[in-house]
Amino acid sequence: MAHRAGMTLALPFLMFAAAYSNAQGPALTDGAASHHAWLDAYREPAARLIGEAVSSTFAWQRLALLTDTIGNRLSGSAALDRAIEWAVDEMKRDGLENVHAERVMVPRWVRGAESAEIVEPARHAIAMLGLGDSVGTGADGVQGDVVVVHSFEELDAKGPALRGRIVCFNAAYTNYGDTVRFRSTGPSRAARYGAIAVLVRSIGPNGLRTPHTGALQYAADAPKIPAAAIASEDADRIQRMTDRGSRVVVRLRMEAHAEPDAPSANVIGEIRGREKPDEIVVVSGHLDSWDVGAGATDDGGGCVVTWEALRLMKKLNLRPRRTVRVVLWTNEENGGRGGVAYRDQHRAELSRHVLMLESDSGVFRPLGFAFSGSDSTREAVRAIATLLSGLGADQISPGGGGADITPSVQEAHLPAMSLDVDGSKYFLIHHTAADTIDKIDPIEMAKCAAAVAVMAYVVADLPGRLGE
Ligand SMILES: [Zn+2]
Repeated sequence: MAHRAGMTLALPFLMFAAAYSNAQGPALTDGAASHHAWLDAYREPAARLIGEAVSSTFAWQRLALLTDTIGNRLSGSAALDRAIEWAVDEMKRDGLENVHAERVMVPRWVRGAESAEIVEPARHAIAMLGLGDSVGTGADGVQGDVVVVHSFEELDAKGPALRGRIVCFNAAYTNYGDTVRFRSTGPSRAARYGAIAVLVRSIGPNGLRTPHTGALQYAADAPKIPAAAIASEDADRIQRMTDRGSRVVVRLRMEAHAEPDAPSANVIGEIRGREKPDEIVVVSGHLDSWDVGAGATDDGGGCVVTWEALRLMKKLNLRPRRTVRVVLWTNEENGGRGGVAYRDQHRAELSRHVLMLESDSGVFRPLGFAFSGSDSTREAVRAIATLLSGLGADQISPGGGGADITPSVQEAHLPAMSLDVDGSKYFLIHHTAADTIDKIDPIEMAKCAAAVAVMAYVVADLPGRLGE
């Protein structure tokens, strides 16, 4: 199974792998790094890890298996339970140590059937996805006149005119950070003025009529009203109708509802350290996903490439001084309970975490890592990254972190890292039905795995703790 889909890639793969196995190690491009004599000991293992990673499509095949045979994995779903069991079994098969699942109770939101349509001035189906954690509409649905706004200022200016209306937030997508607030807080802001439902232009660049889901956050002091993302084309149509002065009426039906919290788990596997097993380097991704698409980029890919770091070490019989631990988090998307549970369950050993890494920005062409930590740890990380110059993955940028590692990182003031990749495609497919394996290139994914493996191995093996 592992070879069939890789056949068409065989030639470029062989050439790529040969380039690595023939080299002494990736060439240094940074003169400053030559001061780090300790780095020389890591050129050979780094070259082996890279060579092993890029000479097969293993990571991509594993992700394809997960996403094709289990599919998307919303918290509390049977599919996520199956993925957790599968990951435990596969980690054991890989020969990882201390493989287990750590129980976490997670919220369970169920989308149910849903639809939206423009009923006036003419009937048009709307491509929509209910927002995660939204309430439903009741069996009869919600119907009302639409008021379009483009900012919270405009919403506030319309104020009382929104009573009994459906508010459509139609702000142009600029970037995720600037526009996600319409999805997260827009519903409660509109509800405070008496709106009966909210439609949000999808938070993502214009695609091909593809709505993007994602969580909303209801405020405690506002009525909970149903809210859905709509495709940019549908938002544009509503805008055109409104601009013409037409009365626009939309009907929304959503069965969305919350069910009682359900048992779930973080999955853990390790390569135990040969000298300081109690000191830990964590690499991680989140195994849960939204309930559309297959959760390939968000974040099955992050799970597999960080897990690969350990599989590659095991395969090459590389056992670093410290323990390398992979954590596949549960419930990143709609609760963050996995990251909080880890902090609480591992509180006694948090201070012995040397570094925590999360990969949750896709597994496209790797650029390097984002890092947050002291100057001395940054200096060491920069030097290690020079081992990845042959992959083009040697950049260290500021702002490393991740939603699931944040609780532990903040509690114990730990160095935090995230895999940095070419981000040009990420938000096009983010939280959509298009988040499938075909968007991911096996060679780019193998390079991501190689980069994480080298970084994790060297940090875990340094004679002194990172930055000391
Ligand atoms: Zn994610």
